[in-house]
Amino acid sequence: MADTDLAAAIKAALAAVDIPGGGDLAGYGGLSDIIVTPSAVAFAIAVAPGMEAAFGPAREAAQRAAQAVAGTRKIMVSLTGGKPPAKAGPTFSHGKPVPAGKTAVPGIKRIIAVGSGKGGVGKSTTAVNIALALQAEGLRVGILDADLYGPSIPKLLGLEGRPAVRDDGIFSPQDAFGLKAMSIGSMLVKDQAVVWRGPMATAALRQLLRETDWGPLDVLVVDLPPGTGDIHISLAQQTIVDGVVIVSTPQDLALIDAKKAIDMLRRFEVPLLGLVENMSYFIAPDTGTRYDIFGTGGAQQAAADLELPFLGAIPLVMSIREGSDAGVPPMIAAPDGPEATAYRAISRSILAQLPVLPR
Ligand code: ADP
Repeated sequence: MADTDLAAAIKAALAAVDIPGGGDLAGYGGLSDIIVTPSAVAFAIAVAPGMEAAFGPAREAAQRAAQAVAGTRKIMVSLTGGKPPAKAGPTFSHGKPVPAGKTAVPGIKRIIAVGSGKGGVGKSTTAVNIALALQAEGLRVGILDADLYGPSIPKLLGLEGRPAVRDDGIFSPQDAFGLKAMSIGSMLVKDQAVVWRGPMATAALRQLLRETDWGPLDVLVVDLPPGTGDIHISLAQQTIVDGVVIVSTPQDLALIDAKKAIDMLRRFEVPLLGLVENMSYFIAPDTGTRYDIFGTGGAQQAAADLELPFLGAIPLVMSIREGSDAGVPPMIAAPDGPEATAYRAISRSILAQLPVLPR
């Protein structure tokens, strides 16, 4: 069936789905376009603030109705908040008014995103260990893997299976060493490549962020995809992001990429917390000697040029890679080791800029 025919057939099937207040979903003004890709179908149902739970059964029924028509394609139905009330006054974050359309996620006090200019610089590894280091400071912490090109948080945290879905359609996050964890990887069908188009990426992010029972959390750490793209734009436009941490390796090329990502985030007026230099130096396992294999100070100088705080450096050590591959991050494997000490120092620099109330 052609994509447009399938979208029309799904819409027709949604006529059998009742919605709160009477009427059916196909005729409901809050139903979005139905996006069809080779492996997935995504659409959103806009509901008035506070109506998410009431629409839960309709969402479930829509999911079943769409699945019956769409065969093996993965169905993603998300509930999205309606427009904010017209007369609502401005909200404030860091003392600045928040642009219209951005809302906080209920139950989450602070959101910190971790980004990078390109892949493979250790962004996800850093995000996981920063989250664990913040938890070690006594905070309630969650981690959201929004890296749709290579969701690696399940592997890094040794997560298995999928998050549970409650009767009202809301996800219960998985637990990993005390962190509440959700990954965009859990929205994918195993062994099927998903072509993420803008609206689908946005719908998946919304669902993970807003239809997950996160709270109460002091901090949610979001692992962004590398570079810049739909997820960054969507997160920056939808949500109050309290700060972004950029991870880079010392090589200039990575820093040039990081600068591009930083420029884009600045345009969206997302506060930048600073730069982390990963794989910064090498510590010989036998002698403990430090080798500055890439030269030193690249990221520090770049941070200064960009007028960003330098949050700290993490050594290139085998134990980080081995522990990460085995699903036991260094913050857990050796909480007092030199790697954990480096992550803890970075998380304290973050906290110093971002007052978070302890439990
Ligand atoms: P990204 O999220 O930027 O794509 P990852 O966090 O997945 O990068 O890391 C890429 C690879 O580098 C992984 O194999 C990871 O274990 C390894 N790695 C990350 N940081 C370090 C480090 N400081 N020392 C050694 N290996 C590291």
